[in-house]
Amino acid sequence: QVVTRFAPSPTGFLHIGGARTALFNWLYARGRGGKFLLRIEDTDRERSTPEATAAILQGMAWLGLDHDGDLISQFEGAARHAEVAHQLLAEGKAYKCFSTQEEIAAFRDQARSEGKSTLFRSPWRDADPATHPDAPFAIRIKAPQDGVTVIHDQVQGDVSIRNDQLDDMILLRSDGTPVYMLAVVVDDHDMGVTHVIRGDDHLNNAARQMMIYEAMGWDVPVWAHIPLIHGPDGKKLSKRHGALGAQEYQAMGYPAAGMRNYLTRLGWSHGDDEFFTDAQAKDWFDLDGIGKSPARFDLKKLENLCGQHIAISDDAALRQEIEAYLAAADLPPLTETQSSDLERAMYCLKDRARTFPELLEKAHFALTNRPIVPDEKAAKALATVSDGILTELTPHLQNVSWSRNELEEALNSFAESKELKFGKLAGPLRAALAGRAVTPSVFDMMLVLGREETLARLSEAAK
Ligand code: GLU
Repeated sequence: QVVTRFAPSPTGFLHIGGARTALFNWLYARGRGGKFLLRIEDTDRERSTPEATAAILQGMAWLGLDHDGDLISQFEGAARHAEVAHQLLAEGKAYKCFSTQEEIAAFRDQARSEGKSTLFRSPWRDADPATHPDAPFAIRIKAPQDGVTVIHDQVQGDVSIRNDQLDDMILLRSDGTPVYMLAVVVDDHDMGVTHVIRGDDHLNNAARQMMIYEAMGWDVPVWAHIPLIHGPDGKKLSKRHGALGAQEYQAMGYPAAGMRNYLTRLGWSHGDDEFFTDAQAKDWFDLDGIGKSPARFDLKKLENLCGQHIAISDDAALRQEIEAYLAAADLPPLTETQSSDLERAMYCLKDRARTFPELLEKAHFALTNRPIVPDEKAAKALATVSDGILTELTPHLQNVSWSRNELEEALNSFAESKELKFGKLAGPLRAALAGRAVTPSVFDMMLVLGREETLARLSEAAK
């Protein structure tokens, strides 16, 4: 069974790169009936905060990235990590190193002055235990000193690191705390992780982590180190490229499905497919499709995909998501009535909106009450027809059955009788019904508003 995991350090919000890493792991597991686990790497006590953990969880919840099993705290596993260090010590695969910070610094200084490698070589590696002092010690792994360590990476290919470039890494510090690198390996092993998909900034760590797997005789997981995300200018993504936090995108009104689609495509491809559903993504996602070079973040593409996802979304689900968006953006919530009016109007709103603010702008007619206050463009449109025309129109709408066909027929024949093109009438009608120039079609607005409200708005605008 496939087991993947997302292992964020809780030092800030869930950024776009992290969200994509989580998404890739989630897709890989969900598409294979596997498990997707979540481990909070909170061993850095200074920088880890509960607020950051909460923000990461919220970001994942927004993106619908549900995880299996309990949330795991790496810090809480410290005793188990230490136990593994002691096991390696007992097996002679690690050793007690009594070198002090000062001694290590002196070693480095000397190596530097002699132009040699500054990798620390502990004198305790081969020391006779009988000579051990009664002093604090760190536990260091006995790293292989020659040959190469090869990481078979599913994205980067085979990456070889010469073992003489790796030192005898500390596993357990002299204060008894395990190092991060040990914690990751022990946790991944104990959690049964089969595939490690993460940013390629961790590629070098993989070589060190392999040493621990090998010393313990554990199966090495499949590695997939994915390139980072760059901005449109090809430089590493940073604040100057705009929002970095996944949830900032929620607050800007991008639907989660569009964001998932976009982030999946960002660095992974499936032929020419740009737009796809979650089901397709789960079906298609694989490690082969991950690109080797950094993907560029492109807001236009994100918006296009979001528009396509809004168009195929279920009305009730959209209504809920829009309410969550308003809360995330700190905007006033919809009233009960507005919310249900929004859902009724949704069918004619969702076609051409790429974001929720765009959709709500078109929804203005359904969310607002009389008196309709026309904005500048709408006021101009109203002024293009003679004063009496909306009053004259009213009786023609009194008795028609309130259906699209009949409304079209009534309005067209009225326009014809006035020797007006329907297009000339449409602007003022939009303005009268919505107070806006950009709206759904006049017929859709009339259908959503109903006869009584439509006539009331027309007569109000006619005054
Ligand atoms: N905690 C690491 C990070 O947030 C991830 C480590 C890993 O995936 O192995 O970058």
